[in-house]
Amino acid sequence: MEAKSKKAGASRLCCLCNLRRPVLKRPKTLQQICRECFYEVFEEEIHQVIVQNRLFKSGERVAIGASGGKDSTVLAYVLSELNRRHNYGLDLFLLSIDEGITGYRDDSLETVKRNEVQYGLPLQIVSYKDLYGWTMDDIVKMIGLKNNCTFCGVFRRQALDRGAALLKVDKLVTGHNADDIAETVLLNILRGDIARLSRCTSITTGEDGPIPRCKPFKYTYEKEIIFYTYAYFKKLDYFSTECIYSPNAYRGFAREFIKDLERIRPRAILDIIKSGEDFRIATTTKMPEQGTCERCGYISSQKWCKACVLLEGLNRGLPKMGIGRPRGVNGDHKMETKKPGSVAKSIESKQCGSLDF
Ligand code: SF4
Repeated sequence: MEAKSKKAGASRLCCLCNLRRPVLKRPKTLQQICRECFYEVFEEEIHQVIVQNRLFKSGERVAIGASGGKDSTVLAYVLSELNRRHNYGLDLFLLSIDEGITGYRDDSLETVKRNEVQYGLPLQIVSYKDLYGWTMDDIVKMIGLKNNCTFCGVFRRQALDRGAALLKVDKLVTGHNADDIAETVLLNILRGDIARLSRCTSITTGEDGPIPRCKPFKYTYEKEIIFYTYAYFKKLDYFSTECIYSPNAYRGFAREFIKDLERIRPRAILDIIKSGEDFRIATTTKMPEQGTCERCGYISSQKWCKACVLLEGLNRGLPKMGIGRPRGVNGDHKMETKKPGSVAKSIESKQCGSLDF
């Protein structure tokens, strides 16, 4: 009887240190662990991902895409800690995009400005207004709440590269976590977007473009980042409101589906990522050829990059001009009928919704 009660008492201790009471069950491993051990394994796992994938070299300048949301805030905090602790030798910066969304981005940027002071990281903000002459508020006024995320996603991608160029950084890191990546794998399968499917699980992308992008949280579960675990324990200062223009129901369904799978089988998230990693494209599949935009010089597989096409539509009062799949040289902007064996070049870039960049 005494032995039985001792055993029951022991099972309530952290399964890593066997000293303290557990405060959470890790979704990835189902281990019940204490707060101190959680900090340690959380940070150590990210360090191992960085080292094993050789994400950085000493002396590099690295911009952290910072939206003020939980993922990028935790990323900024952890990366500055690891940089100090393990002597990575990185020069870190915060890079924020101001899409011009009143009541959302203006508030979240205030959080990033506080993070600048809290973590001692210089901050660069680039705005859609300065780069394109349009804010998202203006765009939504013109086009309504349909396709607004397409404009925003395409503009953000370029804006991040332009901001990174201003900072003269060697790399850009984003706070995409394991849930985001699993969701993107699923969405690319549902859309038949083979080109994106083949690269969405890469931990580093854009090595042939202006600035490579890395995802140090590739294997980090969202549950461990969100407030009731890491961010809550560490009391990090982050912004948790969703964008007021977030209508992305399709992504929302995919997200819910992943969450349902995770409830039944927590490893499902890592397994979906693994499926994406092991995916191989048939050599007969035609892939888009990478070139540069004739107008602005940005990377593009068409005559004009998507941002220039969308911008032209806005400036001409024809905002639907760039929506859909362009055919050939994107001068006529007619809708393309997908041919068997060809790759759909979806214009929808990774949209944020509740995601951090
Ligand atoms: Fe832009 Fe994201 Fe808002 Fe869509 S949900 S408008 S992509 S900030």
